[in-house]
Amino acid sequence: MKLLLRRTTVLLIFSLLLVFGLMAFTARYFSHASTWVQYPANRHLYEDGKLVSSGTVYDRTGRVLVKTVDGAVRYHENQAVRTAVMHATGDPHGNVVTGAQVAFRDRLSGWNIVQGAFRSSGRADSGRDLTLTLDAELCAVAHRELGGRRGTVGVYNYETGEILCMVSTPSIDPANPPDVQADPDKYEGVYINRFLSAAYTPGSVFKTVTASAALDHLRGIGEKTYRCDGKMHIGEDVVTCPSAHGEVTLEQALARSCNVAFAQITLELGAGTLQKYADQAGFNSRLEVDGIKTTAGRVDVSGAAGADLAWAGIGQYTNTANPLNFMAYMGAIANDGVRVTPRILGDEGFFSTVTSPPGEKTRVLSADTAGKLGEMMRNNTISAYGEENFRGLELCAKSGTAQVGGGKRPHAWFAGFLDREDFPLAFVVVIENGGSGTGVAGPVAANVLQAAVAAK
Ligand SMILES: [Zn+2]
Repeated sequence: MKLLLRRTTVLLIFSLLLVFGLMAFTARYFSHASTWVQYPANRHLYEDGKLVSSGTVYDRTGRVLVKTVDGAVRYHENQAVRTAVMHATGDPHGNVVTGAQVAFRDRLSGWNIVQGAFRSSGRADSGRDLTLTLDAELCAVAHRELGGRRGTVGVYNYETGEILCMVSTPSIDPANPPDVQADPDKYEGVYINRFLSAAYTPGSVFKTVTASAALDHLRGIGEKTYRCDGKMHIGEDVVTCPSAHGEVTLEQALARSCNVAFAQITLELGAGTLQKYADQAGFNSRLEVDGIKTTAGRVDVSGAAGADLAWAGIGQYTNTANPLNFMAYMGAIANDGVRVTPRILGDEGFFSTVTSPPGEKTRVLSADTAGKLGEMMRNNTISAYGEENFRGLELCAKSGTAQVGGGKRPHAWFAGFLDREDFPLAFVVVIENGGSGTGVAGPVAANVLQAAVAAK
């Protein structure tokens, strides 16, 4: 009996070890399998160190953006198109980590956690296909409009989250990559997708955040006026406007981008309220575009007072904004205060490895506040930017000319949305050191949006 008990105990210990071992392996399998399977010694996917089994990447209209034929990567036949979408597809050396060839490698190689790496047709190019939400022709228009300047253009459907246009410059022709090292100035940050991964001083586009807080928190803000004499002394500092705007309402202050009025509004709101509305608008947090994490814009006014706080409410101070996140905030204003997370993957396969649900919805403003702010942004176009420059678009927008110091020209911003049921589009344009938001980024937005409306 004693012997039997001892044997049972030993058997039990071995059984437990086996169970724990299996559990540990399963956990590691689910967290690491994707990395293991991509290991170049895996003969299922690689031959002589080259990826042989990779699917085709399409745009929303079925254009082939990149495919692998007999181990060789082939890009779109048109140079302008493949250069415009280079940050979406990736480059031949995998330098663009947010590009599909790197970010969605699992899906393209045909690997998934349930079925493993299978080569169904037995051909060398039997990976899975991927359809992006992008319109490659629209991307080419945006790339052309940026005209060799550094920056980014993004357009998305604020109801479904589909990104139609995502362009970052400088870019390269992935089929004929130049010697980037030979001209570091021309190709500065060429592998960075500025739309997803940059953060810029926002300047006056940020006034849409301050205005939303004012609509909710300042009594009688609809009728109230603020006096602008062209400058305002706050302690040692001076907040200035290009000229004296006189007595302005919140709506007029937004349309004329009056710094003096917004300085007063920000000081009335206080740091806590401004911080809350900045956080709600998406600052200080990263969005996930089908698993690709964006860079967070920053607003930190804890401990800021006086002129520092006033400048923060005008979009200067230490504020930075990520272009995609800011575009999503524009989309939230358009979409009754609900932000739909932008996405780039068109087909959601059954074996999706994507962690965040596509088109995730977050309320960032009340429907009432979003409606009022949207009307003010519509008024910006009519009374300041010129309806004739955006004919038929029903454009609601805000410009920004963000001071960056160091003797450099300001960043030109133009962001907003179309108030059209047939084209629920929000957009952002940033041109680094481009100059005036309205004068430089505005026309780029106009031409890209007209192309987007014409494309359907
Ligand atoms: Zn002013």
